[in-house]
Amino acid sequence: MADQKKEITIVGMGFCGLMTAVHLIRNADNPFKLNIIQKNFGSNKGPAYSTDNPSLVLNVPTAKMSCYPKEPEHFLDWVSEKSKYRNIPRELLAISFMPRKLYGEYLSEVWEKTLAGSKGKAEVRLINDSATGIRESGNGYEITTESSGTVSTDVLVLATGNDTPGEPKIPNMNFYKCPEYFCNPWDNDCVRDLNSDSNVMIIGNGLTMVDTVIGLTDNGFHGKIFSISPNGLAMLQHRHGGVAYKGLVDELSEPYDLDKLFSLFKKHVRLLREIGISAEPVVDSVRGISQKIWMSLSVDEKMRFMKHLRHLWGVARHRVPINVYDRIIRLKLEDRLKVIKGRLLNIVNTENGIKVDFRNTRTYSDESIIVSRVINCTGPQTDIGKSKNPFIRSLYESGFIRPDPLRLGIDADTEFRVLGKDGLHNERILTLGGNLKGLLWESTAVPELRVQAENLADSLLRTTVTEAEPVME
Ligand SMILES: Cc1cc2nc3c(=O)[nH]c(=O)nc-3n(C[C@H](O)[C@H](O)[C@H](O)COP(=O)(O)OP(=O)(O)OC[C@H]3O[C@@H](n4cnc5c(N)ncnc54)[C@H](O)[C@@H]3O)c2cc1C
Repeated sequence: MADQKKEITIVGMGFCGLMTAVHLIRNADNPFKLNIIQKNFGSNKGPAYSTDNPSLVLNVPTAKMSCYPKEPEHFLDWVSEKSKYRNIPRELLAISFMPRKLYGEYLSEVWEKTLAGSKGKAEVRLINDSATGIRESGNGYEITTESSGTVSTDVLVLATGNDTPGEPKIPNMNFYKCPEYFCNPWDNDCVRDLNSDSNVMIIGNGLTMVDTVIGLTDNGFHGKIFSISPNGLAMLQHRHGGVAYKGLVDELSEPYDLDKLFSLFKKHVRLLREIGISAEPVVDSVRGISQKIWMSLSVDEKMRFMKHLRHLWGVARHRVPINVYDRIIRLKLEDRLKVIKGRLLNIVNTENGIKVDFRNTRTYSDESIIVSRVINCTGPQTDIGKSKNPFIRSLYESGFIRPDPLRLGIDADTEFRVLGKDGLHNERILTLGGNLKGLLWESTAVPELRVQAENLADSLLRTTVTEAEPVME
């Protein structure tokens, strides 16, 4: 008789994959095999924390960025021990916004420590590659990779993060094949090697646009940057130091109803504004229950939220630190950054450069701008039917996964089990992170992702890594 260890494969080692692996290894009572498929793992901790640019900072304060839900000050403690920050009072460090590069180093250290303690618990195999396909094999799966052959597994954890943005529809879709179009705003090449006499058009006006503007200017670009979006909303900065406001939540009661919620929301924002305080404490106050609220809304209410409130919510919820805000405002005042409220009409290559035609919805006029590069910052493509990730496409085309009703991610249940084409949940394919946006809406940032990673790992340890099953030889 020999022991057959259970085999778990995690595809993607951004925050979610890495922390799932950490909890599996730390908490396993029985030995198991862990395959990890991720290209360039080490230098790559997902697009958020793989940057080398120290000006790109976290948008969540230090005190809320611990990777462990049960040790909420873990990151704050780690930062306080750095010689550079040792003399800054802890209260200020708690509300500071650290470079994302530093957070990547923090995750590396957490991983290295975990790996060093994995002996006798987990046989870890790092596969420096991308997963491209999947097929059923016995009681598990066989995963195909780009160049490392196949990987067999009992259970698959899909921690693939965000897809790159989808292309806005224009008559000349061929434009998107042009080398001066960048579909991946998290690729550093999109902010490099530009002639400073030229203009750049950024499609989108959220936090990714902010990162791109910072990246461009840090790389010495002095030309003019345009950004176009249907709402042209101005971004907000973090204010009020995270002081909690409880008024709205105290008044909220189940069953939740979108209209009631919205009017309550307006009431409390008005109340605070009257005394010189902006809306952020009200927005932040529902963070702890936003997943619960979302899950209780009907599909119709969710659709109405997506149509009418999503952008407003996004601006209020995803804010930037003051130093980043100041840079953006300065660029606007210097007329080096112009945010256009408008709708793209077409983009064509001409002998003078790339001509971007748009309807300016502030002035109701059709206008054109000549630029030398177009960067897509419209946010991740969430419809898995249109995914550019070959592995997600393969899972979808084989019917192992299906989109949620709003096409915001992968349909799944609260135990992280994906629902297949047949609507049945799958015990052997689990997912977390951005893939759960349809189920949870707030499934984006570390404060909620760290909880998911721990819970998913716990659930796997209970259901899969139980005592090794003896097999007959
Ligand atoms: C620019 C940016 C800044 C952010 N800043 C913050 C912040 O300050 N605070 C905060 O809390 N959150 C922030 N976020 C949110 C962030 O997305 C989460 O914090 C978290 O990093 C998401 O982790 P993830 O593992 O789900 O996805 P990702 O970080 O996207 O990681 C997914 C990984 O899967 C890999 N992968 C995908 N497909 C395959 C495949 N087929 N085969 C192999 N590997 C694959 C990818 O290469 C990637 O490394 C930011 C996000 C971005 C994009």
